[in-house]
Amino acid sequence: VERSVAGITIAGGSRAGIGTSLYIKEYQLCFDLGCEGEKAADCDTVFISHGHTDHLGELFNYLAIRRLHSRDIANLFVPHWIGDDLRLAIQAWGRLSASSFDYRIFEVHPRARLPLRNQWTVEAFPLVHTTPCMGYLLSQSVAKLAAPYVGLPGEEIRRLKLADTEGLFQDVERPLFAYVPDTLPEGIDALPEAVWKAKVMAIEATFLDDRKPLDKVRAGGHVRLDDLVSRLRRFSGEAVVLFHISQMYSPSQIEGLIAEAFPGDLPFSVSAFW
Ligand SMILES: [Zn+2]
Repeated sequence: VERSVAGITIAGGSRAGIGTSLYIKEYQLCFDLGCEGEKAADCDTVFISHGHTDHLGELFNYLAIRRLHSRDIANLFVPHWIGDDLRLAIQAWGRLSASSFDYRIFEVHPRARLPLRNQWTVEAFPLVHTTPCMGYLLSQSVAKLAAPYVGLPGEEIRRLKLADTEGLFQDVERPLFAYVPDTLPEGIDALPEAVWKAKVMAIEATFLDDRKPLDKVRAGGHVRLDDLVSRLRRFSGEAVVLFHISQMYSPSQIEGLIAEAFPGDLPFSVSAFW
């Protein structure tokens, strides 16, 4: 599947318990590897949220396909608590398949800020799930005219620039894409403030109505659409993408339930990715 939203293309797929992988083509970054390993194989940088099979089980295919295509080393950013097990699993799979994989693992701690290319930073934040889980926020640092200089004529600014005026510009972090996978509502309530300002926010919406009893929803460590509707009032970006939707919903049901849940005059778009 490929969907365009607010200027980015999300490729991959996502169904709760089956497989989730969101590959953002413009950024060449991939979030989770639970399905669509062939598509994700185009991408050399992957962020893993937690160890559940539907978020990680496609890793071996991903590595094997990259090997087949003689790709460069894969950079796997993973929660620090799964690093050792993942290394062992990849080594074991290498023996099973009589091949070696080209990868490196970066163990990420919650609240870590990871500098990447293009003045990008990825910040990891903790979520609350049945097993420890992390989300990620991609931001870009851009130089903006500092407040005292805003409104000056262009000529004057050029002159100050040529004179190397200190403090003329100020680095501002612009949140571009937030990845908020499996979590209970508590995890959403504790999100870093910048996540709510991301241009695009992808957030889990495993259940869309009450056909799954709430205690079972919570036991699985998930939210229901009505948990999100009120909380998303804080969102000030352009687009919300709901993913990780249960297989119990058909595509037409998904569209209908989402349209029903959100008021028509929202200042941002809401769509689903599956
Ligand atoms: Zn999970």
